[in-house]
Amino acid sequence: MSPDNIRIINHKKAMDAFRQTKEYRDASDAWLVEHPFCEMWLREGIQVKSVLVHHPYKWSYLTTALYIDFKNNGAMAVSSAGHFACHHGLKVCPVCKKNWCPAERDMCKLCWERANPELAEKLVFIREQMKRDINKRRRESRAEFKKKLAQKSGENSGK
Ligand SMILES: [Zn+2]
Ligand SMILES: [Zn+2]
Repeated sequence: MSPDNIRIINHKKAMDAFRQTKEYRDASDAWLVEHPFCEMWLREGIQVKSVLVHHPYKWSYLTTALYIDFKNNGAMAVSSAGHFACHHGLKVCPVCKKNWCPAERDMCKLCWERANPELAEKLVFIREQMKRDINKRRRESRAEFKKKLAQKSGENSGK
């Protein structure tokens, strides 16, 4: 392992340990009292209890002082589903306000299907057609293989 990697791992361990300290726990508890609702859901006007503080900027992991400076490091109070969404580029669907969808889309898959029923049906049909084609090709190549195998064993037994 390179010295850089070791340094990164040690730093991560130190930050994990810092998260367990009373200092950090008290600060994040206080932040959650001030920001009681998950900010991911709040964008759509829905109140879901926040349970932890998310750090959206990588630089806030550099030192414990930056990490705990919630007022200036862009800290976000989030629910656990909201936290997952933060780390996977998702947001609450602005249409149904129920499902998660990619942050760059304007609605989730279900809402899109509801808004474009004809296109959605066509896509299902195309996908099924593709599946049928693939299965047919698989069956054919398996049959071909068996035939070759039978020929080979026929040749061998003929000797
Ligand atoms: Zn996070
Ligand atoms: Zn939706």
